[in-house]
Order: sequence, then structure tokens, then C-alpha cells
Amino acid sequence: MTTSPESPADRGGRTGTTGGAQTPVRAVACPTCGRTNRVPAAADGSPRCGNCATPLPWIAEAGDADFGKVAEQASLPVLVDLWATWCGPCRMVSPALEQVARDLAGRLKLVKVDIDKSPALARRFEVQAVPTLLILDHGRQVARQTGAAPANALRRWVDESLSASHGPADPATRRP
Ligand SMILES: [Zn+2]
Repeated sequence: MTTSPESPADRGGRTGTTGGAQTPVRAVACPTCGRTNRVPAAADGSPRCGNCATPLPWIAEAGDADFGKVAEQASLPVLVDLWATWCGPCRMVSPALEQVARDLAGRLKLVKVDIDKSPALARRFEVQAVPTLLILDHGRQVARQTGAAPANALRRWVDESLSASHGPADPATRRP
């Protein structure tokens, strides 16, 4: 009987994903043409449809390990949703936030953080209650809100926060 020696098969081309943390990818349907695109949680610039170049909604999750890459280094302003699985209001707010991310595709990124899996972020942002919503612009906090709110109120808060962080807004902006 012969036993074939286990040679270190150096078949070329199958190197797999070695080295570097790999970024999670989400399948996102283009709102314009319907093409499914693979959108990474972190990337330079912002995602566009490979078929028709429509800006795609950018919704990602992050934790203690990858928050810097996914949220703070993003080229777009980031809406951070600090939430918890046991939080009922969080489940109500989540679809409204995703709608905002779809409406503002190409202008805003939504990053969800499960605080129970991300204790360092919960401490850093001094989360006392969930949901806590932050808007970061290149890692700098420009707005913060705690608690659930109706979809139209969330949208208005996001719009006002974005315009406030990007140069002088109209000084006579309406009050809430
Ligand atoms: Zn498209």
C-alpha cells in the first residue's frame, strides 16, 4: 500500500481573504433601476449603482472594533443609531431611520450600533437611554438626540443638523 504524502499543494489563485479585517457587505437594490448592488460597510466615497450611478442608501452596522472605519472615517455625514435589542422604541425608530437613509442616499450614512455588543462606544458616548441618535461629521459630533420621535420629526432634525454642520444655514430657520 502506498500512502500519498500530503504535499503542500501550492495551487495558485486561491489565496482567499487573508490579512486585514474584511468589511461586511450588504445587498442593496437600486431605487432607480432595481439592480442589486453589493455595498460594503466601509468604503471611500459613497456607494452608487453599478448600472445607472444612482446614489444608493448606505446602511451599516458597527461595533467597538470597526466604528472608526465605518463611522468616523466615512466621507459622508453619519447618523449613528445607538440601540439595544430589548428596547421597544428602538424597533419603532429603526424603520424611520432607514427611510431617512433612503431619502438622503448619497448625502447621509446610517450606522447602527448595538450598545450591548459595544460597551466601549456606550461609555464613550455616555449613553443613558436608548435610542440615542448622533450625527457625526468626519468623526465630530454635530447633533445628538435621545428617545424615539415620529418619522417626520426625525427627518427634520437630520435636515437641520446637516445644514448646521455644513456652513451657515439660513439664520431665520423656522423653530420646531
Ligand atoms: Zn441603478
